[in-house]
Formats: sequence, structure tokens, C-alpha cells
Amino acid sequence: MSAVLEAKGLSRRFGGLLAVADLSLALRVGELHAVIGPNGAGKSTLVNLLAGELPPTEGTIWLGGADVTGLSVARRAHAGIGRTFQRTNLMLDMTVLENVRLAAQAALVPKRALLRRADRALAPIDAARGALRRVGLAATGEARTLSHGQLRQLEIAVALAGQPRVLLLDEPLAGSGAEDAAPLVALMRDLAREYAVLLVEHDMDVVFAVADIITVMVDGCVLAHGSPGDIRASAVVRDAYLGHSVA
Ligand code: ADP
Ligand code: MG
Repeated sequence: MSAVLEAKGLSRRFGGLLAVADLSLALRVGELHAVIGPNGAGKSTLVNLLAGELPPTEGTIWLGGADVTGLSVARRAHAGIGRTFQRTNLMLDMTVLENVRLAAQAALVPKRALLRRADRALAPIDAARGALRRVGLAATGEARTLSHGQLRQLEIAVALAGQPRVLLLDEPLAGSGAEDAAPLVALMRDLAREYAVLLVEHDMDVVFAVADIITVMVDGCVLAHGSPGDIRASAVVRDAYLGHSVA
């Protein structure tokens, strides 16, 4: 299966610190690729490099075979990279639907000129309703009335409204209790059937339950890469990172 998003030799330096060091990875549709590693390992920096938030110091990123390394966040979003943030990026004073509609509208801008006038107002709202249905959220009420878990679902709907091929999810369960986490975990599994999903997550139970592929990062480098079974069995990973947290 060919990769939708591929990165080779990615590095990112912050002054004297190499936050991501010569990292390569491939994301495929139908695959949930988890990136794990201790705090400061470079996981969020990797997501920012892939999304275009940060330029890499070295390396190349391809989306659907095209080099997107020099493209802005907006251009990459149009090209099909959707993401959520470790800290939420929602507008709480607006309605649930409006949050998603704005994202859908931004995604449709280049296509707008092609639409007949009567379709213009309808297209983003239909896309927004579709994205909300997909994540299992009702399209009513203000965003601030949602529970913590529902806000995370809304963030994913915002990303889906951009019509991505790749979804980059940076700790989408952060701060969730078990009750909030269950529907999100089911949603991630479901999304991985249709999109290439990269998931940064620190809860090992979740990672081992949902991931098809796991990359373990330590100090910006790939320490190990493989199936959940491989990673669980890896002595290198256990010694360097998992410690006694995995039975
Ligand atoms: P993780 O998400 O795995 O916890 P990060 O990617 O956030 O790790 O950070 C990796 C390292 O890079 C950390 O040492 C962090 O302090 C540093 N870092 C991240 N972003 C910046 C930045 N914008 N400027 C300087 N240092 C940064
Ligand atoms: Mg992080």
C-alpha cells in the first residue's frame, strides 16, 4: 500500500536543541499510526513540521507524491492535511455548527468560483453537518455548552470539514476521563478506515488498543517502529521508555 504522506530525513533545530532528528515516516490510508514517547521527545514538533506550522531544518515531506515541504499551513490544508491541536483551537462563543462551517468554508474557497450561485451558501453548511454527523455530535447549541470529550469531537469535526486525506491528532484525549475517552477511541478507529491517521497519545492502554503501527520517539529520534506486538515485546523500548508501565 503506498503512503499518502511521507517524510524523509526530517530534522528541526531550536537553537542548540535538535527537537526532531533525521526522522522518516509514512502514513497510509486504513492505518492508525501512533507516535509515543516521553515529554519533550519531539512529538508535537513532528506534527507541526508535517502540518506546515514549522519549517524543517532538513528533510522532505510528500503528500500524495507531491513535495509539500515549502507549502504554508493553509496550502497544506487545501492539499489534504487536517490536524487537531494539543491545546484546543475552538471558538467557544460560537455555535457548534458555526465552528465547523467556518472550517468547511475555508476548505471550499478555491472551488467556490466553480459553484453556481445558488449552491454557494449551502455547500459549507452541508459539509459541516456531514462532519458533525461523522463524529457523532449534534449540530445545535454553543460550543461552550459541550463536555470536554465533545469539544474534542468538535475539533475532529473541524479538521474533517477541511476534507483531509491525512489526519494529525495531537493528544486528542488529553484531559479526558474514561467516560469521555471511549467514544473518541471508537471514532479514531472508525476514521482510520477512511483517512491516514497519525495519533500522538500518551495513554499506553489507548495506544495499544487502537494503533496499527507505533513509532516510539526519544530525544527527537525514532527509538523503535513496528506493530503494537513488536513494541510491547521490545526490550529497547521497555528499558528506555515504557519502564514498568506496560505489563
Ligand atoms: P513532545 O510533544 O514530545 O512533548 P515537543 O515537540 O513539544 O515534545 O518538544 C520537543 C523539544 O523541543 C522540547 O525540548 C521543547 O522544549 C522544544 N521545543 C518545542 N517547541 C519549541 C520552540 N518553538 N522553541 C524552542 N524549543 C521548542
Ligand atoms: Mg506534545
